[in-house]
Amino acid sequence: MATMENLISLATVDEEIREIESSRGDLPSRIKKLESEKEQINNEIEKLTVKLTELSSKETELNRSKQDCDSNLAKYKDQLYLVKNNKEYDALNTEIDTVKTQLNEISITLSDIIENKKQIEEDIKLNQSTIDNNSEKLDKYSSQLKNLMSDNEKEYKNLTLQKEKLIGTIDESILSKYNVMLNAKGFGAAAIVGDACGACYTTLPTQLITEIKQKNEYKYCPSCAILLYFEE
Ligand SMILES: [Zn+2]
Repeated sequence: MATMENLISLATVDEEIREIESSRGDLPSRIKKLESEKEQINNEIEKLTVKLTELSSKETELNRSKQDCDSNLAKYKDQLYLVKNNKEYDALNTEIDTVKTQLNEISITLSDIIENKKQIEEDIKLNQSTIDNNSEKLDKYSSQLKNLMSDNEKEYKNLTLQKEKLIGTIDESILSKYNVMLNAKGFGAAAIVGDACGACYTTLPTQLITEIKQKNEYKYCPSCAILLYFEE
C-alpha cells in the first residue's frame, strides 16, 4: 500500500522538521510578539498625534480670539477718555467687563490645552522609546534566528517540499486524523516499539501488531488513538 509508505515517510519528515523548529527555540514566537506590540504602539502614537494636532489648531484659534479681545479692550479703554456723559461711561465699562470675562475664560482654556498637549507629548515620547527598545530586541532576535536558520535552511526547505508532496498522496480523512495528533502531540503517527505503542508505551495485542506489520490497513493505538506503523 503506497500511501501507507508515504504516511510513514511523512511521519519521518515531520519529525525532522520538528527537530529543526525546536532548535530555533522560542525566537519565532518572541519576534511575532514584539512585532505585534510595535504595531499596537504605532497605532497609539498615531491616535495621540491626531489629538495633538486638534489641540494645536484649537490653541491657534483661541490665541486669535485673545488678540481680538486684547485689541477691543485697548480700543474701549481709549474711548473712556472720549465719553461725554455717565451713561456712555457705564455702557463702555460694561463692554470692558465682558471682554475681561472672555479673556479670563480664554486663558483658562488655553492653559488646559497647553497642559493637555504637554501630557500627550510625554506619552508619545514614552511610546516612542518603547518602540525603539522593541526594535533593538527585534534586530537582535532576528539576527539570532537568521544565524540559526542559515545552518539548516536548505534542509528545512527540502523537508517542507517533501512534506507537501507526501501530503498530496495521502487520503484526506487519514491526513486529518494525523494532523490532529501532530498539532496536539508534535507527531502525527508513531512506530511500534517492540510490542508497544511508540507514543504511550501501552502493550499492544499480538493480533494488532501482526496487522500493523502487514500494512494493509491503517491501525490506531487502542489506548492513545495515535496512528501506528511498523518501522523495518
Ligand atoms: Zn498509544
